[in-house]
Amino acid sequence: GKGSTGKNHRLGPVQGNEIRRNPAMDYEGYFADRLSGLKNEGRYRVFADLERQVGAFPKARNYRDGKPHDVTIWCSNDYLGMGIHPVVLEAMAEAVQSNGAGAGGTRNISGTNHYHVLLEDELASWCKKDAALLFTSGYVANMTTLMTLGAQIPNLVIFSDSDNHNSMIEGIRHSRAAKEVFRHNDVEHLETLLKKYPKEHPKLIAFESVYSMDGDISPIEKICDLADQYNAMTYLDEVHAVGMYGETGSGVAERDGQRERITIIQATMGKAIGVVGGYIAGSANLVDFVRSFGAGFIFTTSLPPAVAAGALASVRFLKEHNELRVLHQERAATVMRRLREVGLPVMPSVSHIVPVMVGDATQCKMASDLLLQKHDIYVQPINYPTVPKGTERLRITPTPLHSDAHIDHLVRALLDVWQHLGIERRAAA
Ligand code: PMP
Repeated sequence: GKGSTGKNHRLGPVQGNEIRRNPAMDYEGYFADRLSGLKNEGRYRVFADLERQVGAFPKARNYRDGKPHDVTIWCSNDYLGMGIHPVVLEAMAEAVQSNGAGAGGTRNISGTNHYHVLLEDELASWCKKDAALLFTSGYVANMTTLMTLGAQIPNLVIFSDSDNHNSMIEGIRHSRAAKEVFRHNDVEHLETLLKKYPKEHPKLIAFESVYSMDGDISPIEKICDLADQYNAMTYLDEVHAVGMYGETGSGVAERDGQRERITIIQATMGKAIGVVGGYIAGSANLVDFVRSFGAGFIFTTSLPPAVAAGALASVRFLKEHNELRVLHQERAATVMRRLREVGLPVMPSVSHIVPVMVGDATQCKMASDLLLQKHDIYVQPINYPTVPKGTERLRITPTPLHSDAHIDHLVRALLDVWQHLGIERRAAA
């Protein structure tokens, strides 16, 4: 079964068996020890050093072995290529010229720029809500909102999907609110947990629409039905859906006709919108409440005006261009079909995310290295704790800018890598 398997990017507190020496006697030695622990488990993170190239996406320059290489990116969360879109770049360049680099303060102290105001209005109307609130990232939006609600609503119980993202888990944890974890996408289990509390007990159900590592989608309508029945608020993370689902692209809640039923819609401007930042949208009072009590909103410098201008241009474009979403879905379906046709283990996905199972941390890293070094294809390996041990995978994210030729190249390269891995497996056995 899924869930409760140490998912969710949980870095966790130090484990007893990880402490081999007293840190106070040798701080540097302690850090080095812990890092070599990660390396031994094959989950020490190595970043690909990239230079994006406007006009060439999904191609980029990758600096390794002291020189640049031209590679094709197959794991970007710039899902629609809006991060290099002329409409966005022009808006940002113009805003830098007119408004400068930084916002100049926190939102409360001279840092509310007119672009922030315009963007919040645009996001609110996109989500069919009274109001929206910007944060410096989607992570901060989740963390701050859940922490604020959990800490400020007496006796709130937060019902949290077992596959929720680390930013939600940390927000709930730091709120110190009571938490009930329901099995991933399991509405029956959710109902069992809801039933434990009387109707007058305050409740919030926190979940995502598209889950980014498996590519599955939550039963939003059923969860909203339960929320109505048990008098709970709903909190929906649309980070991996915004821009890509629904007639105007506001997310899966729109696609499923559930937008108005969700209490709080949260998302990022860093993925399909192509820039950076996060937001929530909800009722006027709810948003004003988080604006007024949310430390992670109040006590930090606001986003640069050009970021807000770029996101604004991107959202306005995305609303009007459903054909981009249609093409995106077609590309993802084509990649899945092509990989399955040659017998590669594509995991079941009902979204634009194409996970290919490897099932071993070291082999996953080797597959990624081979793709890069031999085929100039960049797909980052996904290892524990982002996914459960034994389900290490390559997570492929096709975009509307991946051509048939790019797909042919990917299929050939993966087949070659799988052959190599087969040899490795036999050698190891
Ligand atoms: N929620 C989910 C489901 C995510 O995957 C992520 C991170 N990629 C975030 C929130 C945080 O968003 P951001 O990258 O904008 O901080």
